[in-house]
Amino acid sequence: MARYTGPVCRLCRREGVKLYLKGDKCYTDKCPVTRRAYPPGQHGQGRRKLSEYGVQLREKQKARRTYGIMEGQFSRYFEKASAKKGVTGELLLQLLERRLDNVVYRMGFASSRAEARQLVRHNHFAVNGRRVNIPSYSVKPGDVVEVREGSRQKPRFKAMLEAPARTVPAWLEVEREQWRGTVVRLPNRDEIDTPVQEQLIIEYYSR
Ligand code: SF4
Repeated sequence: MARYTGPVCRLCRREGVKLYLKGDKCYTDKCPVTRRAYPPGQHGQGRRKLSEYGVQLREKQKARRTYGIMEGQFSRYFEKASAKKGVTGELLLQLLERRLDNVVYRMGFASSRAEARQLVRHNHFAVNGRRVNIPSYSVKPGDVVEVREGSRQKPRFKAMLEAPARTVPAWLEVEREQWRGTVVRLPNRDEIDTPVQEQLIIEYYSR
């Protein structure tokens, strides 16, 4: 399972927005997007005017990097969304939000999607009572995601319980004391705060 292993703050600076890839650091004034608000690299501070294609490409990259997935998998999500009935852009974001690593992050069991992905891979989570270690596992309404019993005493999870609770989107319900959360329903577009214009992603793939 391939994943990006390079410096992540560089990705935010390239897109010019906070993608919240680093957990707690993203909420401090050490965030490089606020300290160096220009693209990385030798010519980062030069003027640049993006073509129509460039704008579409950047929007696709932004979404892909936010959820931490590789090119091939992202285009498969797009194909899946376009094959479904409904608004493709919204369906695409919904598919991305339904990933187990994203749900673990949204429920507040991890400080970033990358951390959530690692925790899932390391067998710390169960869905409906069964161990699931596939970060791309797609949850559905009614699914109960929980930290497995043997993992609850680990320092990582204890610290999480002591930290202030994060705001959980309305499509999820979390019982922190019970170490679990429920997928109440699928998210609507206005409940997904990912800063992307999905129409541009559709245009990118429709070229
Ligand atoms: Fe780095 Fe987080 Fe800031 Fe992005 S938002 S630049 S990941 S600290």
